[in-house]
Amino acid sequence: MAAIEVRDVTFGYGEQPVVESVSLDVAEGEFLGLVGPNGSGKTTLLKLIIGLEAPDSGTVRLFDEPAVEFDDGERIGYVPQDVAATEDEMPITVEEAVRMGRYPHRWVGRFTDDDRRSVREAIERVGIEDLADRRVGRLSGGQRQRVFIARALASEADLLALDEPTVGVDAESREAFYRLLHELNDEGITIVLIEHDIGVVTTHASEIACLNRRLYFHGDPEEFVETDALADAYGGSQRVIHHDH
Ligand code: ADP
Repeated sequence: MAAIEVRDVTFGYGEQPVVESVSLDVAEGEFLGLVGPNGSGKTTLLKLIIGLEAPDSGTVRLFDEPAVEFDDGERIGYVPQDVAATEDEMPITVEEAVRMGRYPHRWVGRFTDDDRRSVREAIERVGIEDLADRRVGRLSGGQRQRVFIARALASEADLLALDEPTVGVDAESREAFYRLLHELNDEGITIVLIEHDIGVVTTHASEIACLNRRLYFHGDPEEFVETDALADAYGGSQRVIHHDH
């Protein structure tokens, strides 16, 4: 089944479209790397995919439901780009933040043992046990990313949508972070990741989509590095070179 179906989607914040005529399918279990120059519409497309923005025309479906109506919020773990910047004031602890992932699963009342186990496992899984009682606002960017991933795991998300998760993270932590993503992906979680480092993303993703308002390429990472799509998209040419769907 397709986790994501984007059909001829156009969207603009004002008159000018920032995403135009984009169609792309992502099967369940894939690891999609979304690349393109600054301001090319990557974050916007990610928001359209998870239903945070509605297309001006075209359709987006998420697990076979219209993305904007998708009400199974716990299935989607979204880590926004500015998580490191915006959470400075976050007065809650790591454990409390991860617990928020359980809210959609909870009936009225107290946390169950299942909830507690799930929170503990998620925290262990991303390796932040020693930070559990620290305030999220006091953590480094990389540590915060892990908190948000843990929250998504606690919510048993089927799709992780990550917007440049390793910006400001050192090389070693970045490698560890990608290892974690691989493990989660191997377990069947679909991943959509915006990453500015082409070398990194083509190493890790199972497919690449290259965007500059329009979609320049969607397909195999090895094929992507051999085509002109990258240079064309980053050079500003509007010619569509490859499009698998
Ligand atoms: P990317 O993620 O590739 O850097 P974005 O999707 O963030 O690109 O932005 C695409 C374009 O839309 C840019 O020109 C940006 O300035 C504009 N944009 C993004 N968010 C908004 C917004 N909330 N309101 C108006 N314009 C926006």
